[in-house]
Amino acid sequence: MFNPIALLTAHGIEFHTEGKNVQEGWISIQCPLCGDGSDHGGFNLAGGYYNCWRCGGSSTAWVIRHLLNIGYTEAVRTIVEFEGQAVVTRRTREYASRVELPGKAMEPRHRRYLAELNYPRSVIEKYGLLGTGRMGRLAHRIVIPVYFDGTLVAWQCRTIVNGSPKYITSSPEESVLSVKDVLYNVDNCQQRRVIVVEGVTDVWRIGNNCVATFGIGWTTQQALLLAESFDEVHILFDSGENEQVRAKKLETRLTEYGCYAQVGHLESGDPGSMTDVQVATLQRELR
Ligand SMILES: [Zn+2]
Repeated sequence: MFNPIALLTAHGIEFHTEGKNVQEGWISIQCPLCGDGSDHGGFNLAGGYYNCWRCGGSSTAWVIRHLLNIGYTEAVRTIVEFEGQAVVTRRTREYASRVELPGKAMEPRHRRYLAELNYPRSVIEKYGLLGTGRMGRLAHRIVIPVYFDGTLVAWQCRTIVNGSPKYITSSPEESVLSVKDVLYNVDNCQQRRVIVVEGVTDVWRIGNNCVATFGIGWTTQQALLLAESFDEVHILFDSGENEQVRAKKLETRLTEYGCYAQVGHLESGDPGSMTDVQVATLQRELR
Protein backbone atom coordinates (compact mmCIF):
# COMPACT_ATOMS: atom_id res chain seq x y z
CA MET A 1 0.00 0.00 0.00
CA PHE A 2 1.20 3.50 -0.87
CA ASN A 3 2.75 5.27 2.15
CA PRO A 4 1.97 9.02 1.90
CA ILE A 5 3.88 9.94 5.09
CA ALA A 6 7.13 8.51 3.70
CA LEU A 7 6.70 10.33 0.41
CA LEU A 8 5.80 13.69 1.93
CA THR A 9 8.67 13.45 4.43
CA ALA A 10 11.18 12.54 1.71
CA HIS A 11 10.11 15.56 -0.33
CA GLY A 12 9.92 18.01 2.57
CA ILE A 13 6.18 18.66 2.18
CA GLU A 14 4.39 19.80 5.33
CA PHE A 15 1.56 17.64 6.64
CA HIS A 16 -0.40 17.31 9.87
CA THR A 17 -1.36 14.17 11.71
CA GLU A 18 -3.77 15.94 14.08
CA GLY A 19 -5.68 19.18 14.54
CA LYS A 20 -8.21 21.06 12.49
CA ASN A 21 -9.54 19.15 9.43
CA VAL A 22 -7.71 15.95 10.41
CA GLN A 23 -9.85 12.87 10.90
CA GLU A 24 -8.70 9.69 12.56
CA GLY A 25 -6.68 7.63 10.08
CA TRP A 26 -5.88 10.61 7.85
CA ILE A 27 -3.11 13.16 7.43
CA SER A 28 -3.82 16.63 6.11
CA ILE A 29 -1.98 18.80 3.60
CA GLN A 30 -2.57 22.05 1.79
CA CYS A 31 -4.46 20.85 -1.28
CA PRO A 32 -2.39 21.52 -4.42
CA LEU A 33 -5.44 21.30 -6.69
CA CYS A 34 -7.81 24.05 -5.60
CA GLY A 35 -5.82 27.02 -4.28
CA ASP A 36 -6.42 25.84 -0.74
CA GLY A 37 -5.06 28.30 1.85
CA SER A 38 -5.46 25.94 4.79
CA ASP A 39 -5.11 22.16 5.11
CA HIS A 40 -8.23 20.83 3.48
CA GLY A 41 -6.55 18.04 1.53
CA GLY A 42 -5.72 14.69 3.07
CA PHE A 43 -4.49 11.17 2.48
CA ASN A 44 -6.23 8.19 3.99
CA LEU A 45 -3.45 6.17 5.61
CA ALA A 46 -5.10 2.78 5.35
CA GLY A 47 -6.13 3.15 1.72
CA GLY A 48 -3.50 5.59 0.41
CA TYR A 49 -6.20 7.61 -1.37
CA TYR A 50 -6.86 11.34 -1.40
CA ASN A 51 -9.74 13.60 -0.55
CA CYS A 52 -10.10 17.37 -0.16
CA TRP A 53 -12.84 19.08 1.86
CA ARG A 54 -13.03 21.80 -0.78
CA CYS A 55 -12.58 20.07 -4.15
CA GLY A 56 -13.38 16.42 -3.39
CA GLY A 57 -11.60 13.22 -4.27
CA SER A 58 -8.73 13.02 -6.76
CA SER A 59 -6.40 10.23 -7.71
CA THR A 60 -3.21 10.01 -5.70
CA ALA A 61 -1.09 10.22 -8.83
CA TRP A 62 -2.83 13.44 -9.84
CA VAL A 63 -2.21 15.00 -6.42
CA ILE A 64 1.44 13.89 -6.28
CA ARG A 65 1.96 15.24 -9.76
CA HIS A 66 0.82 18.68 -8.63
CA LEU A 67 2.54 18.55 -5.23
CA LEU A 68 5.93 17.73 -6.77
CA ASN A 69 5.37 19.49 -10.07
CA ILE A 70 6.29 16.43 -12.13
CA GLY A 71 4.77 14.52 -15.06
CA TYR A 72 2.04 11.94 -14.60
CA THR A 73 4.28 8.98 -15.45
CA GLU A 74 6.88 10.12 -12.95
CA ALA A 75 4.17 10.61 -10.33
CA VAL A 76 3.01 7.01 -10.78
CA ARG A 77 6.60 5.83 -10.46
CA THR A 78 7.08 7.90 -7.30
CA ILE A 79 4.00 6.33 -5.73
CA VAL A 80 5.29 2.87 -6.54
CA GLU A 81 8.58 3.80 -4.89
CA PHE A 82 6.72 4.66 -1.67
CA GLU A 83 4.63 1.55 -1.37
CA GLY A 84 4.75 0.46 2.28
CA GLN A 85 7.71 -1.74 3.16
CA ALA A 86 9.24 -1.05 -0.19
CA VAL A 87 10.57 2.21 1.20
CA VAL A 88 13.00 0.33 3.40
CA THR A 89 13.58 -3.02 1.81
CA ARG A 90 13.16 -2.89 -1.92
CA ARG A 91 15.91 -1.54 -4.06
CA THR A 92 14.37 0.65 -6.72
CA ARG A 93 14.78 -1.15 -10.01
CA GLU A 94 16.24 0.74 -12.88
CA TYR A 95 13.76 1.47 -15.63
CA ALA A 96 14.85 2.28 -19.17
CA SER A 97 14.51 5.77 -20.64
CA ARG A 98 13.10 4.32 -23.85
CA VAL A 99 11.75 1.00 -25.04
CA GLU A 100 13.20 -1.05 -27.88
CA LEU A 101 10.57 -3.34 -29.34
CA PRO A 102 11.65 -6.88 -30.16
CA GLY A 103 10.49 -8.49 -33.39
CA LYS A 104 9.73 -7.21 -36.87
CA ALA A 105 6.81 -7.18 -39.31
CA MET A 106 4.64 -10.29 -38.92
CA GLU A 107 5.27 -13.40 -40.97
CA PRO A 108 2.35 -15.32 -42.52
CA ARG A 109 2.38 -17.79 -39.58
CA HIS A 110 1.71 -14.99 -37.08
CA ARG A 111 -1.18 -13.71 -39.20
CA ARG A 112 -2.56 -17.21 -39.57
CA TYR A 113 -2.52 -17.66 -35.81
CA LEU A 114 -4.57 -14.49 -35.28
CA ALA A 115 -6.99 -15.51 -38.03
CA GLU A 116 -7.47 -18.95 -36.45
CA LEU A 117 -8.48 -17.24 -33.21
CA ASN A 118 -10.93 -15.09 -35.19
CA TYR A 119 -9.26 -11.76 -34.57
CA PRO A 120 -9.89 -9.34 -37.41
CA ARG A 121 -6.87 -8.57 -39.58
CA SER A 122 -7.23 -4.91 -38.52
CA VAL A 123 -5.87 -5.61 -35.02
CA ILE A 124 -2.35 -5.93 -36.45
CA GLU A 125 -2.21 -2.34 -37.59
CA LYS A 126 -4.44 -0.89 -34.90
CA TYR A 127 -2.35 -2.24 -32.01
CA GLY A 128 1.00 -2.14 -33.85
CA LEU A 129 1.55 -5.90 -33.48
CA LEU A 130 4.82 -7.45 -34.63
CA GLY A 131 6.18 -10.99 -34.78
CA THR A 132 9.38 -12.64 -33.57
CA GLY A 133 11.56 -15.16 -35.43
CA ARG A 134 12.32 -18.78 -34.69
CA MET A 135 15.30 -18.37 -32.37
CA GLY A 136 16.06 -17.00 -28.92
CA ARG A 137 14.21 -16.19 -25.70
CA LEU A 138 11.26 -14.67 -27.56
CA ALA A 139 10.95 -17.17 -30.43
CA HIS A 140 7.54 -17.81 -32.06
CA ARG A 141 5.66 -14.90 -30.51
CA ILE A 142 3.45 -11.96 -31.30
CA VAL A 143 4.89 -8.70 -29.99
CA ILE A 144 2.38 -6.39 -28.32
CA PRO A 145 3.56 -2.81 -27.72
CA VAL A 146 2.13 -1.10 -24.63
CA TYR A 147 1.51 2.62 -25.01
CA PHE A 148 0.62 5.13 -22.33
CA ASP A 149 0.00 8.82 -22.98
CA GLY A 150 1.23 8.27 -26.54
CA THR A 151 4.56 6.86 -25.33
CA LEU A 152 5.77 3.30 -25.82
CA VAL A 153 6.36 2.18 -22.22
CA ALA A 154 6.59 -1.63 -22.30
CA TRP A 155 5.72 -4.75 -24.33
CA GLN A 156 4.33 -8.23 -24.01
CA CYS A 157 4.97 -11.25 -26.22
CA ARG A 158 2.38 -13.99 -26.67
CA THR A 159 3.30 -17.44 -27.93
CA ILE A 160 1.80 -18.70 -31.19
CA VAL A 161 2.92 -22.31 -30.66
CA ASN A 162 1.38 -23.03 -27.23
CA GLY A 163 4.81 -22.45 -25.70
CA SER A 164 5.27 -21.72 -22.04
CA PRO A 165 4.95 -19.15 -20.61
CA LYS A 166 2.01 -17.92 -22.65
CA TYR A 167 3.10 -14.32 -22.15
CA ILE A 168 6.52 -12.77 -21.60
CA THR A 169 6.52 -9.17 -20.37
CA SER A 170 9.38 -6.69 -20.75
CA SER A 171 11.61 -6.52 -17.66
CA PRO A 172 12.07 -3.19 -15.80
CA GLU A 173 15.37 -2.74 -17.67
CA GLU A 174 13.42 -3.11 -20.94
CA SER A 175 10.50 -0.86 -19.88
CA VAL A 176 9.84 2.80 -19.18
CA LEU A 177 6.99 1.82 -16.84
CA SER A 178 5.77 -1.49 -15.49
CA VAL A 179 2.69 -2.78 -17.33
CA LYS A 180 1.11 -2.99 -13.85
CA ASP A 181 1.33 0.81 -13.55
CA VAL A 182 -0.68 1.40 -16.73
CA LEU A 183 -3.74 0.11 -18.58
CA TYR A 184 -3.52 -1.48 -22.02
CA ASN A 185 -5.34 0.52 -24.72
CA VAL A 186 -6.16 3.48 -22.45
CA ASP A 187 -5.08 5.85 -25.23
CA ASN A 188 -7.96 4.52 -27.39
CA CYS A 189 -10.60 5.34 -24.77
CA GLN A 190 -12.21 8.68 -25.42
CA GLN A 191 -15.33 8.27 -23.34
CA ARG A 192 -15.88 8.50 -19.60
CA ARG A 193 -17.27 4.95 -19.57
CA VAL A 194 -14.97 2.00 -19.97
CA ILE A 195 -14.83 -1.80 -19.85
CA VAL A 196 -11.97 -3.38 -17.91
CA VAL A 197 -10.77 -6.83 -18.97
CA GLU A 198 -7.90 -9.06 -17.95
CA GLY A 199 -5.71 -9.36 -20.99
CA VAL A 200 -4.64 -7.78 -24.24
CA THR A 201 -6.50 -10.31 -26.40
CA ASP A 202 -9.78 -9.45 -24.64
CA VAL A 203 -9.13 -5.85 -25.67
CA TRP A 204 -8.54 -6.92 -29.29
CA ARG A 205 -11.94 -8.61 -29.14
CA ILE A 206 -13.86 -5.69 -27.65
CA GLY A 207 -11.97 -2.74 -29.15
CA ASN A 208 -12.26 0.91 -28.19
CA ASN A 209 -13.35 2.00 -24.72
CA CYS A 210 -11.85 -1.14 -23.29
CA VAL A 211 -8.68 -1.46 -21.22
CA ALA A 212 -6.79 -4.42 -19.73
CA THR A 213 -5.01 -4.74 -16.39
CA PHE A 214 -2.56 -7.43 -17.63
CA GLY A 215 -4.00 -10.15 -15.43
CA ILE A 216 -6.55 -10.25 -12.64
CA GLY A 217 -3.99 -9.09 -10.05
CA TRP A 218 -4.79 -5.42 -10.58
CA THR A 219 -2.66 -2.87 -8.70
CA THR A 220 -3.47 0.28 -6.74
CA GLN A 221 -1.86 2.30 -9.55
CA GLN A 222 -4.24 0.78 -12.08
CA ALA A 223 -7.25 1.39 -9.84
CA LEU A 224 -6.19 5.01 -9.36
CA LEU A 225 -5.71 5.46 -13.07
CA LEU A 226 -9.16 3.99 -13.77
CA ALA A 227 -10.79 6.29 -11.22
CA GLU A 228 -9.00 9.31 -12.62
CA SER A 229 -9.65 8.57 -16.28
CA PHE A 230 -13.25 7.32 -16.13
CA ASP A 231 -16.54 8.05 -14.37
CA GLU A 232 -18.04 4.64 -15.02
CA VAL A 233 -16.17 1.35 -15.04
CA HIS A 234 -17.60 -2.03 -16.09
CA ILE A 235 -15.41 -4.91 -15.00
CA LEU A 236 -15.51 -7.96 -17.27
CA PHE A 237 -13.06 -10.53 -15.98
CA ASP A 238 -13.32 -14.19 -16.93
CA SER A 239 -16.02 -16.24 -15.25
CA GLY A 240 -13.82 -18.30 -12.86
CA GLU A 241 -14.33 -17.97 -9.12
CA ASN A 242 -10.95 -16.37 -8.43
CA GLU A 243 -11.44 -13.93 -11.29
CA GLN A 244 -14.83 -12.91 -9.95
CA VAL A 245 -13.42 -12.32 -6.43
CA ARG A 246 -10.73 -10.03 -7.86
CA ALA A 247 -13.29 -8.25 -10.00
CA LYS A 248 -15.49 -7.62 -6.97
CA LYS A 249 -12.52 -6.23 -5.02
CA LEU A 250 -11.76 -3.84 -7.87
CA GLU A 251 -15.39 -2.74 -7.87
CA THR A 252 -15.18 -1.99 -4.13
CA ARG A 253 -11.91 -0.08 -4.47
CA LEU A 254 -13.15 2.04 -7.37
CA THR A 255 -16.30 2.86 -5.42
CA GLU A 256 -14.10 4.05 -2.53
CA TYR A 257 -12.34 6.32 -5.02
CA GLY A 258 -15.69 7.89 -5.92
CA CYS A 259 -16.04 6.15 -9.27
CA TYR A 260 -19.15 4.24 -10.41
CA ALA A 261 -18.04 0.65 -10.86
CA GLN A 262 -19.89 -2.56 -11.59
CA VAL A 263 -18.91 -6.15 -12.24
CA GLY A 264 -20.53 -7.32 -15.45
CA HIS A 265 -21.55 -10.85 -16.29
CA LEU A 266 -21.36 -12.35 -19.75
CA GLU A 267 -23.59 -15.02 -21.17
CA SER A 268 -20.66 -16.45 -23.10
CA GLY A 269 -18.47 -16.73 -20.01
CA ASP A 270 -15.30 -14.92 -21.07
CA PRO A 271 -14.73 -11.69 -22.98
CA GLY A 272 -12.29 -13.50 -25.28
CA SER A 273 -15.03 -15.81 -26.57
CA MET A 274 -17.61 -13.12 -27.31
CA THR A 275 -19.09 -13.11 -30.79
CA ASP A 276 -19.07 -10.06 -33.06
CA VAL A 277 -22.77 -9.55 -32.37
CA GLN A 278 -22.22 -9.62 -28.60
CA VAL A 279 -19.37 -7.13 -28.90
CA ALA A 280 -21.49 -4.82 -31.03
CA THR A 281 -24.31 -4.98 -28.46
CA LEU A 282 -21.90 -4.23 -25.63
CA GLN A 283 -20.38 -1.26 -27.48
CA ARG A 284 -23.87 0.10 -28.20
CA GLU A 285 -24.81 -0.13 -24.53
CA LEU A 286 -21.75 1.88 -23.58
CA ARG A 287 -22.63 4.86 -25.72
ZN1 LIG B 1 -8.70 20.84 -2.90
